[in-house]
Amino acid sequence: MRSGTTRRCAMRRYSRPTRRRVAMSSDASNHAAKSLPASQADDASERAPLPSGRALSFEIVARDTRTAGRAGVVRTPHGAIPTPVFMPVGTHATVKAVAPDDLEAMGTRIVLANTYHLLLRPGPDLIARFGGLHGFMRWPRPILTDSGGFQVFSLGRLREVSEMGVRFRSHLDGAEVVLTPERVMEIEALLGADIILPLDECPPYPCPPEEVRLATERTHRWAERALTARVRPDQALFGIPQGGMDATQRAESARFIGALPFDGFSIGGLSVGEPKPVMWAMLEAAVPELPERKPRHLLGVGSPDDLLEGIARGIDMFDCVLPTRTARTGGLYTPAGRVNIRTARFREERGPVDPACDCYTCRTFSAGYLHHLIRAEEDESRGELLYYRLASIHNLRFLIRLMEGARAALVAGAFPEYRARFLAGFTPPDQEAAERQRRKRTAP
Ligand SMILES: [Zn+2]
Repeated sequence: MRSGTTRRCAMRRYSRPTRRRVAMSSDASNHAAKSLPASQADDASERAPLPSGRALSFEIVARDTRTAGRAGVVRTPHGAIPTPVFMPVGTHATVKAVAPDDLEAMGTRIVLANTYHLLLRPGPDLIARFGGLHGFMRWPRPILTDSGGFQVFSLGRLREVSEMGVRFRSHLDGAEVVLTPERVMEIEALLGADIILPLDECPPYPCPPEEVRLATERTHRWAERALTARVRPDQALFGIPQGGMDATQRAESARFIGALPFDGFSIGGLSVGEPKPVMWAMLEAAVPELPERKPRHLLGVGSPDDLLEGIARGIDMFDCVLPTRTARTGGLYTPAGRVNIRTARFREERGPVDPACDCYTCRTFSAGYLHHLIRAEEDESRGELLYYRLASIHNLRFLIRLMEGARAALVAGAFPEYRARFLAGFTPPDQEAAERQRRKRTAP
């Protein structure tokens, strides 16, 4: 199922530096121009096989001397993942509105699927009969499944947490479900992802410190049980440090989980409503306690500015529903910030939504056409079906290209400049919303 000629051709189309692409990452490109052999060396290291008997390997190919950023390659049984990487989220074993060919063409190297949702429907046994997630969703590259813990605590009803695990009612039909660390390992073995996560307890925000401590310590004991209960040697298991919004607990949790024989780490419980500076402070407390030579994933963070801030703090992998969810409501990323394609200013726009973008949507369609598609339906809350695909392709490619540029900059020793240049041009969405609110309030 792995790499065929067609795919390599599709990839090459994007690796050819077009003028448009250079426009966005010119800092990185200028520096990278001198060190192009490095990216060729990258290609070679990407092709190197996973050592036999291993579920995952991680190689750091460059370190930024001025931040904690690093560029690397994660190898899995379904192929290599250059890092830093953004992982599109396919909650129900599909990244909404896009097909595997679209994902391939936009340079996706790994997707994430949600254990909680797939457990409730269609069920892991059924997916196993289709050859696991890879066979079921026809995605030949790496897949990561979360543990379902986060969704149990945010979606499940009538939760009852005990040392054994968590008992809850499905948000779909009210059926009672029990998840234990051992059961989650069995479910994820059936789903068959390359990287799996153990059951954890994600405390809400805000949360009293004593409750955070109980949840974090329980997460530690569940992590040890998951390691004992792991089923398949060909799946990599990442540990989840928690610790709420307390720097001491964050560091302690990262130290505890970091000392266990996990293949990598997925930092949990952040981006749950806390202010950004708090999130960064928690990351700065946790990351130094994790082993340097294992990959680090930040769960659920995915706005363009946050990705670069996360990289600077030592994160290698990101996932988030934000780019596709935002796209579906009309929010499209550009180097200047997010624009709302519904607004009248795009009605007559004959150029692409982002002239610097090399995605299928921007290479083919005008912003005026996208504006038409999202407004063509009678029902204001819906657009033409094609809109969802085109908008999702653009936002995902925007983030993937941002990560490719960041990686090239890390390899070239120019990451801080790349980050500064992007952030100087990009107005973060919440800042933009706050500005709109302020204008509304002060309007005559
Ligand atoms: Zn585009």
